[in-house]
This record gives sequence, structure tokens and C-alpha cells, in this order.
Amino acid sequence: MRKRRHAVALALLLVACLLPLAGCKPEKLVSRSQEVEIGKESAREIERRYPVNKDPDLNATVDQIGQALAACSDRTDIEYTFKILDLKEVNAVSLPGGWIYVYKGLIDETKDKPDELSGVIAHEIGHIAARHHADMIGRQTYAALLVGTLTKGDVRNLASIFANLTLLRWSRKHEYEADRLGVKYMYRCGRWDPQGLIDFFNLLMEKQKDEPSRFEQMFRTHPVTSERIKRAQKYLDDLEAGTVQP
Ligand SMILES: [Zn+2]
Repeated sequence: MRKRRHAVALALLLVACLLPLAGCKPEKLVSRSQEVEIGKESAREIERRYPVNKDPDLNATVDQIGQALAACSDRTDIEYTFKILDLKEVNAVSLPGGWIYVYKGLIDETKDKPDELSGVIAHEIGHIAARHHADMIGRQTYAALLVGTLTKGDVRNLASIFANLTLLRWSRKHEYEADRLGVKYMYRCGRWDPQGLIDFFNLLMEKQKDEPSRFEQMFRTHPVTSERIKRAQKYLDDLEAGTVQP
């Protein structure tokens, strides 16, 4: 009975998504367990393709920052996993269902600047909390989801999209929202200065000119623009002035 109600709700959503009606939210087509299933498969794929850093101290630092920020987020219905990839580029990525990979290049770049490293991790948590991956999945798989469950082949295909770190690219709308949430979670936690995220963006804009290859992936995955910096700064100023609620 519950299954049938779910199928009817999915069918209605699908109709709303196919017709130019208001109220189509592709992420609603994807359940939490589907998201976790795809995330788990993507994580497996990433760890097959890319080297995972095993330094216990470094991993503990990233995990502590990540778990603390995740606890201050709007999404605590999933488990979060934080790992480091031994890649020299400056970047971080998130997968559906709670996996976040920080590149070693980002850790080196933000050495002794914990507010900046925490800012990037908070931004990635923002993508997961706002269910941006589910939005991406929902847009690609309306038909499969309507039928009920995703096949193993669907899960593998979707997982390989997220596991291809050189192709992943968020939209401007996703980026604005992840920035706002990242700043909000840092502000709520009170352990790191949210200005760190904005300082990091400014540093990226500066450094990209000298070493474009190290920053290329970051600019492709999470396009940094002066408009993003302006919006994030405005949101933080509003939070500090008390004109918006954290
Ligand atoms: Zn992003």
C-alpha cells in the first residue's frame, strides 16, 4: 500500500516535471536510500581510480572538522564520511549520500589556515544537505525512478558520473546555495570563522593566474566567480548584522 502511494506520488511529480508546471522538484524523485546506494557505489569507484591518503593524523583532522560541521548542518539523517585523496590539485568533492573527498593539494594550500579548509568542507556539506546530487540524479532518471527502483545498471551508470572527478560540474545556482549553507553551518558551529571560505575564494582568484593547472579542477567543479564571492560576503554580513537567521 505504501509502495503504491509512493508510485502515485512519483507519477504526479513526473507529470509536473514533464509539463511546464511549477513545483517540479527532481530531487523529490530520489529517495534517501537510493542516494546512499549511488553514493556508496561512487565512493567504491573513486577509491579504485584514485589514491587514498592513509596518514592517520591528517585523516583525523579532516574527519573532526567534517563531523563537527555536519552536526551543525540541516541534514543529519545520513552518515558522513570524510577522506583525503592523494592528488596535488586544489579541490574537494562530495558524493550523493554523505561522502566527501578532500584533495591533498587543498590541505597543503590551506596549511595553518583551518578556517579556509573548514570553509571548503562546509561548502561540500552544503551540496549534500541541499540534496544537489539527488537533484542531478532526478533530472537524469525520471523514467527509471517512475518504474519504482533503479536497476543495478542504473546505479552503476549514475555512480560513474559522480566518480569521474574531471567531469563533475555544479551549476551556478547549486554553488550559490552551497556557499550560503557553508557560511551558515560555520556560523552556527562557532568554531571557525566563516570569513575563511570567502578568503579562500579570493586566494583562488589570485593564485589561479600563477598556477592554473593546480586550480583548474576547482574552477571546473565549483566555478568560482566574483559574483559568488560577493553573494557569500553579503550573506555573512547579514548574518553578523542579525538581519538573517542562521
Ligand atoms: Zn560546489
